[in-house]
Amino acid sequence: MALFQAIPSDGGHRRYDVKSPVTLESIGQFDCATDVEVRSAVERARKAQREWATRSFEQRAEVLWRLVDAIVERQDDIVDLVMKETGKTRMEAISMEVMAPCMQISHYAKRGGKYLATVHKRPSGILRFSKKISLVYQPLGVVGLITPWNGPVALAANPLAQALMAGNAVVHKPSEVTPFSAVLLKELTVAAGFPTDLYQVVQGDGQTGAALIEAGVDKVSFTGSVATGRKVGEACGRNLIPVTLELGGKDAMIVCRDADLDRAAEGAVRGSCFNTGHYCCGTERIYVPEAIYEPFVAKVVEQAKQLKQVESGDGDVGAVFWDKQMDIIEAHMADAKAKGARVLVGGERNRGLSGYFYPATVVVDVDHDMDLMRRETFGPIVAIQKVRDEEEALELANDSDYGLSGNVWTQDLRKGEAIAARMVTGSVSVNDIAVTYGIPEAPFGGVKESGVGMVNGEIGIRGYCHVHPIIVDTTKKAQGGYPYTREGADGLQKMVRTVFGNRLLRKLFV
Ligand code: NAD
Repeated sequence: MALFQAIPSDGGHRRYDVKSPVTLESIGQFDCATDVEVRSAVERARKAQREWATRSFEQRAEVLWRLVDAIVERQDDIVDLVMKETGKTRMEAISMEVMAPCMQISHYAKRGGKYLATVHKRPSGILRFSKKISLVYQPLGVVGLITPWNGPVALAANPLAQALMAGNAVVHKPSEVTPFSAVLLKELTVAAGFPTDLYQVVQGDGQTGAALIEAGVDKVSFTGSVATGRKVGEACGRNLIPVTLELGGKDAMIVCRDADLDRAAEGAVRGSCFNTGHYCCGTERIYVPEAIYEPFVAKVVEQAKQLKQVESGDGDVGAVFWDKQMDIIEAHMADAKAKGARVLVGGERNRGLSGYFYPATVVVDVDHDMDLMRRETFGPIVAIQKVRDEEEALELANDSDYGLSGNVWTQDLRKGEAIAARMVTGSVSVNDIAVTYGIPEAPFGGVKESGVGMVNGEIGIRGYCHVHPIIVDTTKKAQGGYPYTREGADGLQKMVRTVFGNRLLRKLFV
């Protein structure tokens, strides 16, 4: 049964029905905004942005603080809706969709003004005597925000807070699989007293997302798959608008011989199964040296067997959020089994429950010929490959088209950092599952096919701005200028020889 289905519509809109992956019952229908509606949303946002940009950081922050109040006030509604819409466990709905947005929005309300304060400085070298520079962080205008289904509130609220704090308006195209979380987020912004049209939601599918990019936005903040990211990047290139692409991953975990095996095994299971494995920085490949392989696998099996899966959402592993993802998980598992992988726990869809459930699964004897180790699976699969040593683990970890995050486990923290530094990926955690996205001071972004650009923290929020240098000449008399003379040109050449021909002077000069 398809959880997301086109249905007949009476007007000029494409209409969809969305079912809960837990109950398989319809939770509602929505109409896709037409291209004209998308364009007019962007135009209205532009008007709202003009007034918003005149507000001080304190005034913008005050609106964001009120959004945090609204989230806290209605956290039960958020949790209920997200659980129904996505099939997340209660714990993950609270931690990811309530707690994380509160932390993210609060971070930018408190620190956004500092990150974006105008910087005044003197240029280096001799120019310091005649010029001063101000770097003004100007808003870009209207940001087109396109988001996926695996973190419907968090992955919208975080860029929203940054874009708004930087003085922009936002038009948001949420995932067609989780449209109702965006409706609720919009309601919360109304309750928080957001100016009309500053944040708008245009519902729709991929075609609507594509229309948003063509609707005159000044930047696109995109989170989603590599395949769509490529199309979004192309469209932004054609329109000459800046874009950040936060894309898929195939994160590696390296377990060193000296790792605390209990801790690493727990990290392997949690990192692989968190959010039903629908975590862009989820652990998808685990490399374990042969010296510790047997005891490590035994501990992982023991832990994975304990994980509960129940329809109420009070278990450890939730539902697979939609049927399309179930197909990918089952296809990767079938490919792995056909090529010799052994399943130690789980490994088949959980048909004991009525919805779309796949249990925590442990699979060994895997290798890089399998899709399970090559392509993003996005399911609760702990896939473990035996390796000779840590060097081989590192080589295999880097043998991937993706590079979003990763993790290393060792009791020697210096060694952990040294291995992390050699991993070709966006970020690395040592002795923890991937947590970079939750720490705003750590810029987040993928390498290789996992993305373009960095988000979060000082670097991320500045990405919602044009850095506008204003250079002021502080001298009393005009410098240089017409008419050009031969003497002037000779003098300039002499100066180049004197200054740049001398190693000490050239360092002082610049
Ligand atoms: P998706 O690429 O299918 O869809 C993402 C969004 O793009 C949706 O809103 C969709 O409607 C829209 N879209 C589709 N076609 C479009 C087009 N041509 N132009 C503009 N917009 C278009 O991704 P998904 O399945 O919703 O999300 C899962 C993926 O997101 C996974 O690969 C996951 O790893 C990735 N993800 C990455 C991060 C990160 O921060 N790097 C975070 C969460 C999820």
